[in-house]
Amino acid sequence: MNTSKFKNELAKKLIEQQAILKSASDDAESIRRPHCRDLWEIAEETERAVIVDNTLQQTQQNIKHIEIGLSKIEKGDYGFCEECGDDISPKRLSILPEAAFCQSCQSKND
Ligand SMILES: [Zn+2]
Repeated sequence: MNTSKFKNELAKKLIEQQAILKSASDDAESIRRPHCRDLWEIAEETERAVIVDNTLQQTQQNIKHIEIGLSKIEKGDYGFCEECGDDISPKRLSILPEAAFCQSCQSKND
């Protein structure tokens, strides 16, 4: 399989996710910074903190998966399902280049 296309996709996604991570971290920091606020502001910021926290976790997960995908390309074992060892379809990989499982294993795990 020609992996250079997927490598480019993954590299692009990695940069995107790192940008999201950076802005979410900045957000998290500005929420944590102590400043004058009333109860409404505190309630609003608590809500925002939850969202930012979710974004941070999700983005860190995404980055991890992308990095695993990239390292598989380096090792030459990209595109195989971690569960059953079958090929992951190129169609699936073009939608989700960091996919670690084939379609059927993924639906079993969901
Ligand atoms: Zn599988």
